[in-house]
Amino acid sequence: MEPTLAIDAIDLRAGAPRLDNLLARLRHLRSPPARPGRHVPLAPRQARVAAPQGKVYLVGAGPGDPELLTLRAARLLQSADVIVYDQLVGHGVLELARPEARKVFVGKQAGNHSLPQDAINALLVTLAGEGSQVVRLKGGDPFVFGRGGEEVECLLAAGIAYEIVPGITAASGMAAYAGIPLTHRDHAQSCVFVTGHLKDGGANLDWPALARPHQTVVIYMGVGALAEICRALVAHGMPASLPAALVHKATLPEQRTVAGTLATLPQLAIEHAISAPALIVIGEVVGLHQRFDWFEKRAQALSAVAG
Ligand code: SAH
Repeated sequence: MEPTLAIDAIDLRAGAPRLDNLLARLRHLRSPPARPGRHVPLAPRQARVAAPQGKVYLVGAGPGDPELLTLRAARLLQSADVIVYDQLVGHGVLELARPEARKVFVGKQAGNHSLPQDAINALLVTLAGEGSQVVRLKGGDPFVFGRGGEEVECLLAAGIAYEIVPGITAASGMAAYAGIPLTHRDHAQSCVFVTGHLKDGGANLDWPALARPHQTVVIYMGVGALAEICRALVAHGMPASLPAALVHKATLPEQRTVAGTLATLPQLAIEHAISAPALIVIGEVVGLHQRFDWFEKRAQALSAVAG
């Protein structure tokens, strides 16, 4: 079932309040009247020193499989008053939340920000200013293409207490569940993570650096620019025969890997109708996928038995 999508009380789509308005409001909220039952302390020790002001926990939800959540993230989900979450947070992860917690969907996705980042920042400040313990749950790791830095800046400016909890980033989840090591003594001595969400549709990546040999390149948010990316990497010296793959919904039961080469991957992506969220992974290590894969093979074996 869809988790609660309602955003009550605050009209987020009206746009972000200006920061100075927000700060004025916050000063007003500094000493809110105690509201029994609303503030759930995280631990007895914290409860003794708790100020009326709330706190924001920027928490990495991992790539999708709830088993990949950190213990700290799971514990915070159990105690938060409010959970502000993204598109890429798996439903299995949200199910771990305290049932009474208010869940606020801010539906942020590459190229499709249904809520502007400013409005998300303002929401976090407002909720914490009201005294709530807020878990800001972000797919993967909050500091890997997660705009966590912008949220921290805003919390700092507003004087809101915060903590940051790492998560397994999509590239790590993909590597493990698709059987594609990110580094390997024989194949790749370095690996780089880049965003393929090309500004203005133009090729603004450091192509010569990406095209270096013995390196694994993982591209987030790159499905829409796949053909352009493959073409540019070959133009900058990568062999067209270099193994490359797309991994859709890594670590989830729907995970699908389509592997080919820089020359063939764009066409394969169309044939297999691969959509976001997916990672592009390029390098010799992709050649190990066939042998190292355990997750999709297991799913296929299970469905063969069932069917
Ligand atoms: N902070 C996140 C990344 C957010 S950017 C992290 O650390 O993983 C969003 C992009 O991440 C998506 O467009 C996609 O490229 C990638 N992504 C996130 N989860 C994914 C998954 N389960 N499988 C494949 N790609 C994923």
